[in-house]
Amino acid sequence: MEEITRKSLLYKSGLGFWCINHVQGCSHGCRYPCYAWMMAHSRGRVETYDDWCHPSLVANAEELLRKELERMRNRPENIHLCLTTDPFMYGYQEVTGLTLRLVELINSYGITCSTLTKGIMPVELADSSRFSPDNTLGISLVSLNEDFRKKWEPGAAPYSNRIGALRELHDLGCTTLVHIEPYPTPNIINQNLSELLETVEFADEIWFGGWNYNNIVKEYADYKKFYDEQSAIVSRFLSTRLKILK
Ligand code: SF4
Repeated sequence: MEEITRKSLLYKSGLGFWCINHVQGCSHGCRYPCYAWMMAHSRGRVETYDDWCHPSLVANAEELLRKELERMRNRPENIHLCLTTDPFMYGYQEVTGLTLRLVELINSYGITCSTLTKGIMPVELADSSRFSPDNTLGISLVSLNEDFRKKWEPGAAPYSNRIGALRELHDLGCTTLVHIEPYPTPNIINQNLSELLETVEFADEIWFGGWNYNNIVKEYADYKKFYDEQSAIVSRFLSTRLKILK
């Protein structure tokens, strides 16, 4: 795997939370399209989509992060991994290994981590001798249909493996999250949101969001009504589950 060096790693994102991205590019190659790819391309960091799908590891990430955390007077309570790449990139053990070392480093400063992946969340994260039990471990999941994944998230982990790994971490006592975004309209794929929700009912948190990246959804005449209905399904599911848990 290729390597690059950076001058800084930790930053506060425009969304208001602290974040690190210790890889440039992402082999998952999402075609929604990927916002991170569009940004990297427009800023001249990556020339082609093919280059984007051949990621480079930030070789000095640990050294940089340690220095940055040491220098900070008011350290954040939480750091997110990642906004512009995937921390557990499918098939890239080097990425997973580096991510685990960075999470361990961050946790050693009493800072929790939130992670979000379309890869396989490693079971090591349940090891409380290395990692904070207060980390939040999340997957992105917008369908259960493998044909959809192959078309829209071609390099990402198969859904059953992605869900299975998160389920295992949940069973080991970790806090888990499922991010259902960007959820497709029926002109992209006709599917049953309730079935997806039932499959991940074990997750501690479920977030839902529409497909805002291009105009495909607007070709579906009733897309606003559709998203209102899907949001209502999620709300009903979450409130029923809350009652069961009580
Ligand atoms: S997993 Fe995330 S960063 Fe990677 S290509 Fe897909 S949307 Fe982009």
